[in-house]
Amino acid sequence: MRSISVPRCTVFSEAHVLRNAFFLFIITTLFYGVGAMLRLVQELSLFWPLNAVMAAIFARYVWLNRLHYYAICYGAMLLYDVFTTQWGMVSLVINASNMVFIVMVAQLVMRDKRRAGSDPGPINALRLFYYCLISAIFCALLGAVGSVGIDRQSFMPLVADWFSEQFSTGVLILPCVMTLTLPHEIPRIRWKQLLPALTLVLSILAAIAVGGAGSLAFPLPALIWCAIRYPLPVTCALTLIAGASEIILVANAVINLAVSGPLQIDQLFSTRLGIATLAISPVIVSTSVAAINNLIRQVSLRADFDFLTRVYSRSGLYEALKNQPGDADRHLTVMLLDIDFFKSVNDNYGHECGDYVLAAFARQVHDVVGEQGLVARIGGEEFVVAAWTRDPLNGFQLAETIRQRIESHVFQWRQQPLQVTVSIGTGSGTQGGKAVIDVFNELLAEADEYLYRAKKAGRNKTCAKSLAEKGVLDSVAL
Ligand code: GH3
Ligand code: MG
Ligand code: MG
Repeated sequence: MRSISVPRCTVFSEAHVLRNAFFLFIITTLFYGVGAMLRLVQELSLFWPLNAVMAAIFARYVWLNRLHYYAICYGAMLLYDVFTTQWGMVSLVINASNMVFIVMVAQLVMRDKRRAGSDPGPINALRLFYYCLISAIFCALLGAVGSVGIDRQSFMPLVADWFSEQFSTGVLILPCVMTLTLPHEIPRIRWKQLLPALTLVLSILAAIAVGGAGSLAFPLPALIWCAIRYPLPVTCALTLIAGASEIILVANAVINLAVSGPLQIDQLFSTRLGIATLAISPVIVSTSVAAINNLIRQVSLRADFDFLTRVYSRSGLYEALKNQPGDADRHLTVMLLDIDFFKSVNDNYGHECGDYVLAAFARQVHDVVGEQGLVARIGGEEFVVAAWTRDPLNGFQLAETIRQRIESHVFQWRQQPLQVTVSIGTGSGTQGGKAVIDVFNELLAEADEYLYRAKKAGRNKTCAKSLAEKGVLDSVAL
């Protein structure tokens, strides 16, 4: 599959104080401008993304939470007001309320990160919801005090307006900015993968067509579908787009909540809270899916590898073989290895020593096989090697190299030298038209038979059928 690689770039870095300050100033001014442009209808903005974006940046980069960086952010807001409004001293209070939201959210998220230790994970959706709620209350109280003078509304409606706006934009924007990552490369997208996103667009169109309060919930199933199918950052971005679109569509009466009559302020209040509550659901689903996938990865890693020897387990070997490319001409040699008289190692030196020898034995085998094949522990002191070899003779030679390496290796157990030998039976063949697993199972049965012969012939031997049939070797040890 063709993919486009994306160059890596970082905006903030702990070492570059001036660059951080510059970008904080630019981003604050930019989003202040976006919010101010949405002040078309009223004095206060319909959608004010700045606080949530800045809170997410401060929450994401813990080391940005310094007084001078906060001051740059606050200063940029004041400067914007100086040039674009006549608010005077009121601007100090209004922008202080913005800072209340930013600093409160950032500090609460940082407290979580400190408690979570080394691996805090990208976000905790439920906690973010709660942090946005309490930070929005404090921000709204101060913001309403500041805006009484510049807005025609009285205190309580202003509190409601500030609170609902801060809370909804916080819940929508924070997960998105906190999880935002540029992929290393953009994979080619198939039509089928776009279905959840297309359904989301259709559900918003349906909300416009049907109208009424219930229509706001229309995108929810599509968002949950997105949460299951897409990675967390994509789900958060789609949730933001859907939620912000709904707020803007309701405010402009494109989605009619009250089927008759103009939009009331308390309807917008209710809309914002409703959308924020809906928006958190896909984010919770997405974080849960990410956590479950992570758990599955860890569990399958444990199942695929043998804990003691760190080579493949039986199931891991089958999984690895399944992922091998099919090639009819490829020649496979399967070896079954059984350590000779291993019980006496346990009896003479103890079980702990037996464990040590098993792990060291596996390392030696792995060392010889290298990239040429796969090593697995399939029983107590029984191992399998599946190696891609040129022909049966080459497979036999590899098995012999393993046997000789073990024979000559001196294991050291608590300053005591210790030596073991291994018996090996092999089976060789080409894949033909069959599945790798089927060929492997056939060759394993063959290797098992020849391991038995190797043991019977006195141990510390390698035995192979193909060579015996050719008359070159008759179940011999070299
Ligand atoms: P041979 O194969 O040459 O016939 O003799 P053996 O003594 O190796 O044969 P057998 O298969 O009867 O014994 C294998 C022993 O391996 C039995 C068991 O005590 C030991 N064993 C199996 N799994 C482990 C393990 O995980 N750790 C340790 N220390 N010993 C194990
Ligand atoms: Mg055995
Ligand atoms: Mg044995």
